[in-house]
Amino acid sequence: MNTIDQFDFKDKKALVRVDFNVPLDKDFNITDDKRMRAALPTINKILNDGGSVILMSHLGRPKGGPEAKYSLKHILGDLSRMLDLEVKFAEDCIGQEAIDKAANLVPGQVLLLENLRFYKEEEEGNKEFAGKLASLGNVYVNDAFGTAHRAHASTAIVAEFFPTSKFFGYLMAEELKNAEKVNHHAVKPFTAIMGGAKVSDKILLIESLLDKVDHLIIGGGMAYTFAKAQGGEIGTSLLEEDRMPLCLELLEKAKAKGVQIHLPLDTVIADKFDNNAAKQNVDTGKIPQDWMGLDIGPKTIALFTDVIKQSKTLLWNGPMGVFEMDNFAHGTRAIADAVVAATRENDAFSLIGGGDSAAAIAKFNLEDQVSYVSTGGGALLEYMEGKELPGVKAINS
Ligand code: AMP
Repeated sequence: MNTIDQFDFKDKKALVRVDFNVPLDKDFNITDDKRMRAALPTINKILNDGGSVILMSHLGRPKGGPEAKYSLKHILGDLSRMLDLEVKFAEDCIGQEAIDKAANLVPGQVLLLENLRFYKEEEEGNKEFAGKLASLGNVYVNDAFGTAHRAHASTAIVAEFFPTSKFFGYLMAEELKNAEKVNHHAVKPFTAIMGGAKVSDKILLIESLLDKVDHLIIGGGMAYTFAKAQGGEIGTSLLEEDRMPLCLELLEKAKAKGVQIHLPLDTVIADKFDNNAAKQNVDTGKIPQDWMGLDIGPKTIALFTDVIKQSKTLLWNGPMGVFEMDNFAHGTRAIADAVVAATRENDAFSLIGGGDSAAAIAKFNLEDQVSYVSTGGGALLEYMEGKELPGVKAINS
């Protein structure tokens, strides 16, 4: 693997793709800076070698033109504080100002370019646009695992302009090492814990996991489509009716492959989608009309905990319930505790798969108690599905 460790950045201007797509509140304060902190080792290595850094990222979902609310200027102050230096800023990621500011950088300095997605050419993977970005630096580093599954100008196409000087940053290397460990070298028993809202988002992942795991735990909103498919009553719980046949098919496939599937035994139901709703426990498939399942129940927690604690490899993607509401976060919290216990007491390797599971682990302050929390949601899923990530291929080829 071509990592920055193998290179001396002295007097180089490194064009570094980072994922600074951090959540901001209404006053543009960063509410979770994990992605920025995760990129610091790479930036500091380049600076310590005596190089300079040109950072490029996207933020939010602008519609192909500049939008003040998605300006990366909002994060400039925090980035400067984190790096303990004054980061320079170019109001446009290409054009004369960016060219001049990049040309004037001296070793030890950092320049942040404005949001790449202010140009539709970024997501289109436009080669001319990628060439303009490439002209700003003389070495390319990709440290943006969160966008590695996209063949965008800054994540993949730009690498073509650096045939012999393109590298993975430390974050990318660490993410790939941990994903590979779980995907190809998992110590058994290997348990995957799937949750979240929709079965449809996770079908490919579940199918590819069936060839690898010993146990598959299914909770969260998607478990109700399985319950209904098996003939249960699910009230107004989340349902993807058109996916019911597929749920039954997945259960059959699992059986044929000797994978043990664990579905919820009971569920916490609510009379409305509200933290203060009336709630009660019922068995799976016995949800009265007008009630909805928002969390896993105590019997399920005991069952899932038992399986998790016996595992040596754990992959967790998706919460067990609506963990954003405190009254329906117990199941997700209990599963997080079980993953922590397996990691600490059973020496299990636990990979938390980005997105909402990462948000849940962060909410419970357990990030340091599991083996690794991925910064990539979609990227990790696609890697686990066996797809080649364009951002990775671009560096490797
Ligand atoms: P995903 O992005 O597919 O991992 O889904 C995460 C979202 O699923 C979170 O926002 C949860 O609140 C939501 N979720 C989990 N369980 C349920 C449920 N039983 N009913 C409704 N939403 C749920």
